[in-house]
Amino acid sequence: MTAHSLKSAEDLFDAGLIDGPTLERIRPVTERYAVAVTPAMADIIDRTDAADPIGLQFLPHEDELRQTPEERADPISDEAHSPVHGIVHRYPDRVLLKAVHICPVYCRFCFRREMVGPQGNGTMTSEELDTALAYIKAHQEIWEVILTGGDPLVLSPRRLTVIMEGLKAIPHVKIVRFHTRVPVVDPDCINAALVEALRSSGKTTYIALHANHPRELTEDARAACARLIDAGIAMVSQSVLLKGINDNPLVLGALMRAFVETRVKPYYLHHPDLAPGTSHFRLDIEEGQQIVAAMRGHISGLCQPIYVLDIPGGHGKAAIGQNAATKHADGCYSVSDFNGNDHLYPPSTE
Ligand SMILES: *Cc1c(COP(=O)(O)O)cnc(C)c1O
Ligand code: SF4
Repeated sequence: MTAHSLKSAEDLFDAGLIDGPTLERIRPVTERYAVAVTPAMADIIDRTDAADPIGLQFLPHEDELRQTPEERADPISDEAHSPVHGIVHRYPDRVLLKAVHICPVYCRFCFRREMVGPQGNGTMTSEELDTALAYIKAHQEIWEVILTGGDPLVLSPRRLTVIMEGLKAIPHVKIVRFHTRVPVVDPDCINAALVEALRSSGKTTYIALHANHPRELTEDARAACARLIDAGIAMVSQSVLLKGINDNPLVLGALMRAFVETRVKPYYLHHPDLAPGTSHFRLDIEEGQQIVAAMRGHISGLCQPIYVLDIPGGHGKAAIGQNAATKHADGCYSVSDFNGNDHLYPPSTE
């Protein structure tokens, strides 16, 4: 699949994506965190621009060696909510199933960067998978199973089919959701065999596509999404709000429009997690709120994601967009419109 991916500092240098001095500076980064850039992403990195928003997402940078006190190896405390290996059960009606810890690309801001990669937690054994499926089967309240990782679409169609057939046999599971970057970073991988495997649970299937910049939605990526959607799989988006990459209403709006044009409904815009060595990507929540507010009203409602923070410590996600309604002592509300003007609700009758 990703046979021609670039996986080391030398590979990046040989491909002309970094120069000699950069190679020396990033070597310690590549010893600490995994590297992979697929051909599809290498193709769209602008080599003449050190601040290219695609390059910033995938090319290692010496700033990753800087760790701040609030950063942590497991920023959203997956481990604290893991009853059996590979399952994270934080919310009552849904679980994460982490069958694999490999990704086709390694994002420099990844929230699970301590767990993914060739040195990461590896792929589930068949015994571990059986234990995970038994846990899901024993918990009637589990309505949805979310395959994440790592990137579950790096699994072979054969292996995916084994997992899907396991889920098929559990009647209370109604929804199967995959979180992936593959349709964007390795679109050729979305072939008939993979689509068939993804559908083989017979359940209602969703794919949450991770992309952060409108240029990632290439013709090939859009065609890969169309193959999934035309096969009956519904798609939603998830993005991370990242300094220097999409922290601007025009870029973010263009990204959300690209999703909607591709029939991918914008779902989550994540505030960056406190993963180690990622402070150069983080912005203030207030800046994030302003960017999100600037999109509201100016672009279609179909294009509006929910801005969320995964609360450190494993407390789950919270919507952190600005609250447009404020309650007053007399029980009335003031509500802000998209131009920033306030209105009373209910309107004054005098
Ligand atoms: C994010 C997350 C989910 C999915 O949450 P949704 O709000 O349904 O998208 C489920 N389980 C865990 C542990 C999560 O971190
Ligand atoms: S694809 Fe997801 S899990 Fe993999 S490196 Fe990127 S953000 Fe992390």
